[in-house]
Amino acid sequence: MDFDEFREFGHASIEFIINYLSSIRDRNVLPSVVPYEVFNQLPKEIPEKPEHWREVLKDLDQIILPGLTHWQSPYFNAFYPSSSSAGSIIGELLIAGIGVLGFSWICSPACTELEVVVMDWLAKFLKLPEHFQHASEGPGGGVIQGSASEAVLVAVLAAREQAVVSYKESHPELSESEIRGRLVAYSSDQSNSCIEKAGVLAAMPIRLLAAGEDFVLRGETLKAAIEEDVAAGRIPVICIATLGTTGTCAYDDIESLSAVCEKHKVWLHVDAAYAGGGFALEEYSELRKGLDRVDSLNFNLHKFMLVNFDCSAMWLRDANKVVDSFNVDRIYLKHKHEGQSQIPDFRHWQIPLGRRFRALKVWITFRTLGAEGLRNHVRKHIELAKQFEDLVVKDSRFEIVAPRALGLVCFRPKGDNEITSQLLHRIMERKKIYMVKAEHAGRQFLRFVVCGMDTKPEDIEFAWAEIESQLTGLLEEQALASRKAGNVADLTQHFQIHLTTDNVEKSQ
Ligand code: PLP
Repeated sequence: MDFDEFREFGHASIEFIINYLSSIRDRNVLPSVVPYEVFNQLPKEIPEKPEHWREVLKDLDQIILPGLTHWQSPYFNAFYPSSSSAGSIIGELLIAGIGVLGFSWICSPACTELEVVVMDWLAKFLKLPEHFQHASEGPGGGVIQGSASEAVLVAVLAAREQAVVSYKESHPELSESEIRGRLVAYSSDQSNSCIEKAGVLAAMPIRLLAAGEDFVLRGETLKAAIEEDVAAGRIPVICIATLGTTGTCAYDDIESLSAVCEKHKVWLHVDAAYAGGGFALEEYSELRKGLDRVDSLNFNLHKFMLVNFDCSAMWLRDANKVVDSFNVDRIYLKHKHEGQSQIPDFRHWQIPLGRRFRALKVWITFRTLGAEGLRNHVRKHIELAKQFEDLVVKDSRFEIVAPRALGLVCFRPKGDNEITSQLLHRIMERKKIYMVKAEHAGRQFLRFVVCGMDTKPEDIEFAWAEIESQLTGLLEEQALASRKAGNVADLTQHFQIHLTTDNVEKSQ
């Protein structure tokens, strides 16, 4: 493809994206395809000869789009948002266009240095403790990982290696394998599945401690678990707390957890994958309580900061603990500025060697929206969730299950779990909006999450009309079915009386 054709292809693709995003409300958020429908429409081998890009865009439009769930639709109300914006989409395009990797400073100095800059910008914007900034005196700093899962895994692995080294020093009589066999970590039973997975990958059991009735993990529960483990000869390593659990967006009590972790020299990591967006708002300053005492923290920019997937910010109070744990060298990776003037080689802060130039899309997003635009976005989602909650509260057939938190409302139709399941089933069959269920203490509920690039109050009304009308339909169907069952029962009873009477008459 020559540059003229590349230009044409590029312009057509931007048009394609704009048409897609500007008409996204016209599509059902869920696709109507059955398994293998997309697969069966596609050739089974790479085309031998190059095809024209117009053919490719045509198939994207006609085969691929009908098989997509539309994550950027305002009617996508499942999971948490995977946000995006014009600036970040262009940023992603430029990243691919420039095509650099930045695993060490020399690989692309601007790639590393821009990441240092945007991570410090973000730490200030979110009002995080100063020691998380690269610019601070100490060994702290931030790095962009691909996902919260990777950030958690990095924290778990680094904490594990630190624990092994320090336990070996204090207990030279124990072999390394004996020490490794005794390690244990903690999180809440409300934490994301990626925490449990990190434990599996790190070959370290993670105890999922019972959160309170209010879905919150507190220091006293952690203290009891640690004391029990220490008494049994186990070695507590790390606690992964959550600010904004996946089910109900509950906030673990970081202050009481940090006190316990400090006492027992346990690493405290905070997974704020979604709720980290709230740190930016003065009115949510409570959320930041205790963060000055945590060892590491992650927040997904792709959830709440209008940077498209994948982009997960992670901060470390002492980056050396990660660098020392993961530092593996080869002669071809060396350069003359290594370790100088605190310029990081980010390959030591992450799992892969290669690393994307994600800082570019973050930089473009932040500059094109400004701090004000980012704060407005978070505030808008909170407002829209409040609008949705008001609609739920006004309808006596529904109940709220957990306090509204940021852009999430947890609610259910009154009654047993079956009615919640049936309602969701009807809604999913119609494909107009997309929500998922969650469960706590045996009670199922629906999660309504404000998502989308430019969600408006009318979109919330649309979603609510869909939900409440489907409940009306479901209740009417149930009433009809029970009336029919009642009629059949009446008829059967009537029939039985006659039969019995007949039999009596016959036998007489
Ligand atoms: N942590 C929490 C609280 C989440 O809600 C999620 C996903 O929704 C994750 C972690 C996993 O995020 P990622 O897909 O970036 O690994």
